[in-house]
Amino acid sequence: MWDGKQKAVTFSYDDGVCQDRRLVDMFNYYHVKATFNLNSGMQTYASHYDFGNVRVHHMNAEGLKELYKGHEIAAHTLTHQDLTKLDKDTVYNEVYLDKQNLERMFDCQITGMAYPYGTYNDEVVQILKKCKIQYARS
Ligand SMILES: [Zn+2]
Repeated sequence: MWDGKQKAVTFSYDDGVCQDRRLVDMFNYYHVKATFNLNSGMQTYASHYDFGNVRVHHMNAEGLKELYKGHEIAAHTLTHQDLTKLDKDTVYNEVYLDKQNLERMFDCQITGMAYPYGTYNDEVVQILKKCKIQYARS
């Protein structure tokens, strides 16, 4: 499967935050590819959250195509909500619109996703299939 190798390591990071810039520089320096899961509805510096006593900002959408060049972009839903707490139509919109936005922004097929907060159920998995998401991780 992987050129006869038995094991593989993958790196994936969520939310498209400013800290990704240093991470991408490091991965590029070592020629390592990573996956970045983005919330297309929140890619603006004004959108932020607090992680302990550190304020974490999302990046503006402009320039992200260039920043993440050579890495995989995957979905993380439009607005980072717990999908198990939403009705079916809202889950569909969260996934489908994020996938569409990212495909437009990055000019590529989006096939992967990370569940916001890592939560999912059977209904969510069925909706992902309808949206043509081929894999998802928590
Ligand atoms: Zn997240």
